[in-house]
Amino acid sequence: MADWYTNFANSGVGTTLTKQLGLPRPGVLRRYEPGGPLLDGPAVVGSAGQGRLRDTVTAVLRDAGVTVLSPVVADGDAAGEKLGAVVLDATGVSGPADLAAAHDFLAPAIKRLRSNGRVVILTDPPAEAESPAQAAARQAVDGLTRSIGKELRDGSTANAIYVPEGAEAGVAGPLAFFLSGRSAYVDGQGVTLSAADVPAGQDAEKPLAGKVAVVTGAARGIGASIADVMARDGAHVVAVDIPAAGDSLAAVANRIGGTALQLDITAPDAAQRLVEHLRERHGGVDVIVHNAGITRDKLLVNMDAARWNSVMAVNLQAQLDITQALLDGDVLNPGARVVCVSSQSGIAGNRGQTNYAASKAGVIGMVRAWAPAFAERGATINAVAPGFIVTEMTAKMPFGTREVGARLNSLQQGGLPVDVAETIAWLSQPTSAGVNGQTVRVCGQSLLGA
Ligand code: NAD
Repeated sequence: MADWYTNFANSGVGTTLTKQLGLPRPGVLRRYEPGGPLLDGPAVVGSAGQGRLRDTVTAVLRDAGVTVLSPVVADGDAAGEKLGAVVLDATGVSGPADLAAAHDFLAPAIKRLRSNGRVVILTDPPAEAESPAQAAARQAVDGLTRSIGKELRDGSTANAIYVPEGAEAGVAGPLAFFLSGRSAYVDGQGVTLSAADVPAGQDAEKPLAGKVAVVTGAARGIGASIADVMARDGAHVVAVDIPAAGDSLAAVANRIGGTALQLDITAPDAAQRLVEHLRERHGGVDVIVHNAGITRDKLLVNMDAARWNSVMAVNLQAQLDITQALLDGDVLNPGARVVCVSSQSGIAGNRGQTNYAASKAGVIGMVRAWAPAFAERGATINAVAPGFIVTEMTAKMPFGTREVGARLNSLQQGGLPVDVAETIAWLSQPTSAGVNGQTVRVCGQSLLGA
């Protein structure tokens, strides 16, 4: 479901009018449908540098039933077969000269990308380079990917995967995510993998089958969508929210065959109650999504202590306390996943939101710091940072502010709660084992804090 403007801009009269007036024409995003194909069309795979991941990439595509064309065919004229995806393996680039091959491959291939196409570029992490020239070439991929993201139109996206030596086994899950409709609103981003034991495969339709997943703030908004998507993917969801939201919480839990647990996550005994519930009812937990969050906006100079403290308590301290209690209580099952909801405000800052931005930036620091300890247990902890997501909250914004806010990104539209939910569900999958300590923005490549 697209917003009114996107629908209008893609209608017959809307297409003509937006063209004549030079207005944005956002594409209708291709979102994941269970049972649907990974891509709408064939893919082409090229390399710059040694390209040690070419076979891995090709196998991921072929296993998903995607036809892989050779770059020679892609070099043909722009009227040739339209491509669903263009994947560049730029691992092993040793200096800027190697990137000429990236340009030679990408330019004609992207010309043939269809709407809602995907560009994915893989390289080694710049931080682990052995020389300034090598670091320069690897870092160049970042600027290249972000710029392609800004040049693409019609719902197409470009993202990067940084793969250190030894982390190759973790490529398949993130690559499939960036290619699929699950990543519809993730654009211009990069994830850096780490070496991990990655399970050989998972049920493509039910990747969370048999898992117990806790979602806080699940009574409405993004949290309710996370609960829906996790249940669709096979998890038993324990939906948590405050007692005052009890009725809507029960409705969400009933809809998905999950469990409702009324709990104010800032209560002194909240973490212990959750640990006991999980131990007694389920014997442990596989996924916890720290989604509950609040805003209490005021300019800093006008902000009272109550506003500051309540936002910090819900958005940050509760995530720290509950995660620590799950570790101490030994209820995290092997391969556990913790996913924390941050915000674009935590990256870019936002006027009137010093408390909120500080709490959400804190979440990013928290997952980065906790990642090594989680890796030792074969678990992961990551964050997602949503940008402009169309919710009841944004519906109440004045028309002008809302429309401008929604369009200030490469996809020229706001995201939907399901876009955040799909990214969280992906990070929760067994094959996301190599993604740890990362913050993935779900913002359509927002121009804010880019
Ligand atoms: P929302 O207000 O619609 O829902 C938040 C839910 O959290 C509510 O059901 C609320 O009752 C629950 N909650 C609040 N305090 C709680 C507590 N102490 N204990 C248990 N539950 C509690 O918000 P949303 O828009 O769905 O946002 C969800 C998350 O996404 C939040 O962390 C928010 O900061 C973040 N986020 C949202 C956007 C956006 O555009 N909507 C953008 C960036 C980040």
